[in-house]
Amino acid sequence: MDFQMEQLAINGGKPVRQQAWPVWPASTTGLEEEVIRCLRSRRWTVSGFYQDEPSYEEKFARAFAAFNNVSYCIPTANGTSALLCGLQALGIGMDDEVIVPGLTWVACAVAVASLNAIPVLVDVDAATLCIDPEKVEQAITARTKAIMVVHLYSAVADMHALLRISEKYGIPIIEDCAQAHGATWEGKRVGTIGAVGTFSMQQGKILTSGEGGAVITNNQVLAEKIYSIRTNARKKVAVRPLPGYMELEDAGDSFASNYCLSEIACAILLNKLKTLEEENERRSSNRRLLGQLLETVEGVSMISSAPGTTSISTYHLPLRIELAAFGNITIKTLCEMLSAELGMWIHQPYIPLNKHPLYVTDDHRLSFYKEKLDTAKYQLPVCWKVYHSHLLLHHAMLLGNEKDMYDIVTSIQKIKTIVE
Ligand SMILES: *Cc1c(COP(=O)(O)O)cnc(C)c1O
Repeated sequence: MDFQMEQLAINGGKPVRQQAWPVWPASTTGLEEEVIRCLRSRRWTVSGFYQDEPSYEEKFARAFAAFNNVSYCIPTANGTSALLCGLQALGIGMDDEVIVPGLTWVACAVAVASLNAIPVLVDVDAATLCIDPEKVEQAITARTKAIMVVHLYSAVADMHALLRISEKYGIPIIEDCAQAHGATWEGKRVGTIGAVGTFSMQQGKILTSGEGGAVITNNQVLAEKIYSIRTNARKKVAVRPLPGYMELEDAGDSFASNYCLSEIACAILLNKLKTLEEENERRSSNRRLLGQLLETVEGVSMISSAPGTTSISTYHLPLRIELAAFGNITIKTLCEMLSAELGMWIHQPYIPLNKHPLYVTDDHRLSFYKEKLDTAKYQLPVCWKVYHSHLLLHHAMLLGNEKDMYDIVTSIQKIKTIVE
């Protein structure tokens, strides 16, 4: 195509993309019926009266455990509380150090700091954008109590190396799978490789109920702790109660909060889980095609997933950009140009945590720990390089057909021809 005479959409030209993208999140008749069934069940939370049938939270927990081939699943209010429950169950507390990737959503560090523990920020691997195992090992001290691994955007972290470190030092791994529902490594679902796995089902995530989360584990002791921590130190009664009675009783075995997920959200998830695998496959096949098409576009490449990855799930799809091939415009400008061509918000990766405004604030709760957190001491050069040289495509863009991938490539080529 000859773009030379054309205008960029951002300057009033005709956008390449003329159609809407697949809707996210989408509702279906089946989903709406499930929600209505839940509403009519008269039980809207696990702490509501038992109504002679398993709660939706139990049904979803079983289904998600089966999906992940894991023994226990405890749904939580959101991904942040899933991290809190997992960390607290691992015994993380005052002044313990938890290794956290420098490139991730702020919740990862905030969850650690909320337990009065210290997030130790570690740089990422340029190939996968996930935590760099070598840097993890360098950051270990006598106070390190857990390694938080995030399977970021659309990659699985290097679990071979991370497991070796975990075993060598006897430090458990907590896998944050908020962006990786259904991905597998050596045939196992992510979240089942470390001691505990956590998920977010917030609206942007690839399995969603608007807000929601879950923790999974194969360890019964951890599972019981997590249940209690989530449920104000309550546990399930041993024998199902009569209708109209509570299915929970006081256990009082932990200093616990309420992070229960509502029955309505669990009903949504129970329905949404049915299509996750198929959607993951569709995104993967579109992603493969896009990768092939981009091989001929100089200055644009895809990231990789760590060795051992057996299937990928795509949350945001990062594209690595050599800006010299784009007339040295900034990545921010390129994102804005591409957003205008594609009619979808294209943006940069997370601001690295050592300078993320939501993490480095003077809020008194954080300033209390300022000395201990000391974000200024971290450099995180790879995180910053990634921030300045990658852009992210939303997963909904991969849910449609092959033609959509051509629109993405055409948009990139159009911008390139005009700016270079
Ligand atoms: C979304 C997300 C979270 C937090 O989940 P919420 O449900 O928004 O609390 C944590 N970690 C990562 C990597 C996330 O993407």
